[in-house]
Amino acid sequence: MDHNIQHIAILGAGESGVGAALLAQAKGYTPFVSDKGAIKLPFEKELQKHKIEFESGQHSEERILSADLIIKSPGIPESVPLVKAALRKGIKVISEIEFAGWFTNKKMICITGSNGKTTTTMWIHHILNKAGVEVAVAGNIGESLARQVIEDIPDVYVVELSSFQLDGIYDFKPDIAILLNVTPDHLDRYAYDMQNYTNSKFRITQNLTENDWFIYNADDPIIEKEISNRNISAQMAPFSLTKEEGMTAFVKDNQIIINLKPSFTMSIHDLSLKGKHNTQNSMASGIAAKILEIRKENIRESLSDFKNVEHRLEYVAKVNGIEFVNDSKATNVNSAWFALESMSNPTVWIVGGVDKGNDYDTLLALVKDKVKAIVCLGKDNEKIIEAFSGAVDVIAEAQSARDAVALSYRFARDGETVLLSPACASFDLFESYEDRGQQFKRAVRSL
Ligand code: ADP
Repeated sequence: MDHNIQHIAILGAGESGVGAALLAQAKGYTPFVSDKGAIKLPFEKELQKHKIEFESGQHSEERILSADLIIKSPGIPESVPLVKAALRKGIKVISEIEFAGWFTNKKMICITGSNGKTTTTMWIHHILNKAGVEVAVAGNIGESLARQVIEDIPDVYVVELSSFQLDGIYDFKPDIAILLNVTPDHLDRYAYDMQNYTNSKFRITQNLTENDWFIYNADDPIIEKEISNRNISAQMAPFSLTKEEGMTAFVKDNQIIINLKPSFTMSIHDLSLKGKHNTQNSMASGIAAKILEIRKENIRESLSDFKNVEHRLEYVAKVNGIEFVNDSKATNVNSAWFALESMSNPTVWIVGGVDKGNDYDTLLALVKDKVKAIVCLGKDNEKIIEAFSGAVDVIAEAQSARDAVALSYRFARDGETVLLSPACASFDLFESYEDRGQQFKRAVRSL
């Protein structure tokens, strides 16, 4: 342990904050947890049980600013006055992931990107788990890394990292880092500057050494540009849907080929998840598994039997020949693009919610090609109506999942698809994207 550090203030008492507090205590530090909002009951009980000091509904500034180290929840922006004051005082402010990384030497496979993080994290976990590796997921999913590091049982952690989590890492080092794509999202936290957001994503590479691996999407123009401008010390493993030369994984004649000895081939038709984006996710996962020397048969089997995570292009039901798909997790334009792109039937598209500064132009061509009717599901649908009224004849508005499903059912015919892929956050009409997806599924099932 660092002898200059004794008192640790932890801002935010969610899974990551409580995990960090438990780890801090286990390692002999004195943690103090502070949450400006209410603390969820199970977390409060856990802190009490472990006799960890905490407060809710406020931040006791003086106490927090007398800490030797601050561990900040990724949900709290660096621009809040308390964090600014801490930085001014020279107090180190880190994320729970950074802190957890101090206490483990296990293998880290870390995944970031604007879209596809959870799917790819779970997919890699699935491959390794089925191959008999002691593996756990962490980061944005399930138990925090800090909590798991206390006992440190797994041999491999597969860690989903958001840009906010990456902002708080300094020494944390993946063994295998994966960058899936960089498209506009969360720009409100990055001074509406795409370069800031891109830099944040590239923090995943900052501590890589030549013994580590960097797996990345070579079809992404932002990533390609950054790679040519940066000096990344790692073994580079690019993948592509469109080019072959220099790629570690690529698609040729509908086969995925992974060029790591012994080379791996598999038909894209055997992948359990459809859509080009999932072919990208499968290549990233396959490369990671090959690096860990998982047998080809195991990789092939796991790439063909992985079940999608809920709310990601999730098949719901067929009603009178109309297929319903729940892609509620599509909370930005790029993820909706891939959903529309993967549609093979005429589609009724349910879209809308809280707009995060969306630019719908990139969707126009796809919408013209695939969408027969749009159902807006948001409080304020003006921008969507304006963007697509020249492209689609039928545009209707709904204020609940039930109405949206009823309208879509009216517009769709046998052999067509109703797709909920909102390209927006959900907080205007729903509690969360999960709530939106569940209400959608319930409405479909009660048709
Ligand atoms: P994240 O954890 O990064 O939010 P998810 O795996 O939860 O990503 O998927 C979020 C949304 O993005 C879903 O609508 C999903 O269908 C879509 N998606 C998944 N993988 C990709 C990808 N590689 N590129 C673009 N969109 C994707």
